[in-house]
Amino acid sequence: MIELKTREEMELIARGGAIIGDLYEAVRDRIAPGVSTGELDRFAEDFIRSHEGAEPAFKGLYGFPGSVCASINEEVVHGIPSDDRILKEGDIVSLDTGVRLEGWCSDSAWTFAVGDVPAATARLLEVTEAALDAAVAQAVPGKHVGDIGHAVERTVKGTGFSIIRDLVGHGIGRKVHEQPQIPNRGRPGEGPLLEEGMVLAIEPMIAIGTWRIRTLDDRWTMSTTDRRPSAHFEHTVGVTVDGPLILTRATSPSLERHPPLP
Ligand code: MG
Ligand code: MG
Repeated sequence: MIELKTREEMELIARGGAIIGDLYEAVRDRIAPGVSTGELDRFAEDFIRSHEGAEPAFKGLYGFPGSVCASINEEVVHGIPSDDRILKEGDIVSLDTGVRLEGWCSDSAWTFAVGDVPAATARLLEVTEAALDAAVAQAVPGKHVGDIGHAVERTVKGTGFSIIRDLVGHGIGRKVHEQPQIPNRGRPGEGPLLEEGMVLAIEPMIAIGTWRIRTLDDRWTMSTTDRRPSAHFEHTVGVTVDGPLILTRATSPSLERHPPLP
């Protein structure tokens, strides 16, 4: 069953979501060669908890040990933050985190470049962020879940990159993971109908090489099987008759937007 939220409930989700947006603004300057993902995790947890009543929603979720998932290069999602994982020039790191505030959850991910990255990697970030933008634009009443996936497919088509098939977005609300699932591929007009009041975590994951993934020995980290880089951008979005409401935006966003794709 897909639970619908009122506008007031969406506003509560947006209050928590803005903490994630602000976190990604604040963490950006800390992402540099020599920094460990363990440090980023501690910074994120302190940042979230510095807002009264806010808690990291991922900590302990299904037993996950961190407040953020920190996935480097070929790692797609669910990387465990560690003091032993040190960023180096040319890496990318995907941070994914959730906030719970007054019983409502928000979820957002962003992939950051560490210094200068190879041209293909930079292009991967552009395409993945553009795929998120295109997907979010479909989150309006009357469209279907398949329109969201189709928008991701349309954006990625012709780039040579591949869409991670085995991981999906999701509804979100009182719980981090609710119905429906939001695949990153789909056909227009197929899947559940979108209605005013749905809140969806939309999260394209795109790889330079293969879409195939495997779980590493830590039983959490998902990596591409060819070990080529993968990027992940995610927003929590409210479906409203006034258009898609991005609920995980920073208070005053300054994260560099990539130029629109042709
Ligand atoms: Mg997430
Ligand atoms: Mg999510």
